[in-house]
Amino acid sequence: MTSEPTLTLRPGRDRSVVRRHPWIFSGGVARVTGDPAPGDTVLVRSAEGAALGRAAYSPRSQLVARLWTFDADEAVDEAMLAGRVAAAAGRRAGLAARTDGVRLVFAESDGLPGVVADRFGDHVVVELTAAGADRWRDALADAFAALPGVAGVYERSDAAVRSKEGLAERTGLLRGAEPPELVTIVEDGRSYLVDVRRGHKTGFYLDQRDARAAVQALAAGRRVLDAFAYTGGFSVAAAVGGATEVVTVDSSAPSLALAAQNLARNGADGGGLCEADAFAELRRRRDAGERFDLIVLDPPKLAARADQVDKASRAYKDANRVALGLLNPGGLLATFSCSGAVDDALFQKILFGAALDARSDARIVRRFHQAEDHPVALTFPEASYLKGLLLQVG
Ligand code: SAH
Repeated sequence: MTSEPTLTLRPGRDRSVVRRHPWIFSGGVARVTGDPAPGDTVLVRSAEGAALGRAAYSPRSQLVARLWTFDADEAVDEAMLAGRVAAAAGRRAGLAARTDGVRLVFAESDGLPGVVADRFGDHVVVELTAAGADRWRDALADAFAALPGVAGVYERSDAAVRSKEGLAERTGLLRGAEPPELVTIVEDGRSYLVDVRRGHKTGFYLDQRDARAAVQALAAGRRVLDAFAYTGGFSVAAAVGGATEVVTVDSSAPSLALAAQNLARNGADGGGLCEADAFAELRRRRDAGERFDLIVLDPPKLAARADQVDKASRAYKDANRVALGLLNPGGLLATFSCSGAVDDALFQKILFGAALDARSDARIVRRFHQAEDHPVALTFPEASYLKGLLLQVG
């Protein structure tokens, strides 16, 4: 009988695995036996020989293994993966009353490292970012296709992180029907078109659902600026909520074109679309004496790694200082950071600095985080990335 490929940890390096953290870095590994290929499953053992679980092996990455299971008696196979997918989808069932745009699987937090899947109407868009997830593409595609009401499964494995795992980009239909050019979702009564083939990530920022609802609830009678607007998620919420005017700023023409369609289909006027560098545009409008009653500031991830935090902090501070200077008395700033490396405490500190410089008396009236379909496993705090503050001035 051939023995199972096995990864044995160095002495003492089993601690994080025992605490159910799913990542094993190359420095913690004493040896790998059985010649596993990238993506193959390995049994994980402590230096003393205790079987700790099974992991996906990724020899090209510093993150050399990700635990599929902490139960050495559990096999990693099609049935196990289908069970994980169905369970993750089941945990989101309550969201169906609000929306048909739902993140079905959020990777490590759902026990599926390297697997992200979003449902947009009848279509599931899957993003595989790790060797183990990639190895099980067919099983995962079958599992998503088997969920009730799913017409097609489409792959968007084009994130840059794949190169760290030695994986090429891959996109295209995996199962069932091709998605239409634009898929429609309805969230809290607002309707959005999603470009699942070319959009950012899988096509839409589902993680901002709760903040969109808040913006809709706050927008009545306010002049609104949506900076870094992408396809107008917040702009539509503000318009539907009764904003007197919405200015939608993004540097991407295709994103703004879709924002225009999204505003129109919700009965809003698209007169406020502005293709510009948002940092410069905010400054220009402030200096021209323009003022707003509600500003949404949702820049792209400015710190992708820990060593970019200082530079990103300065950029966040600068943009927020300018935004605070654009507010009328009583005005609101909904400001966000999706950089995992900038935690809640640092983000609040950055806003403190921005408010000091802007001579603003801003106070926090609400805090935002990624929506509930992007859960953070307590064993895996790295899953927490999106944070926001609602500030009020005057
Ligand atoms: N608020 C959006 C998501 C924003 S994603 C939503 O809820 O859907 C970040 C957006 O910032 C992208 O659309 C990108 O095109 C845009 N962007 C990046 N750099 C920019 C810049 N310097 N000026 C304006 N927009 C920028």
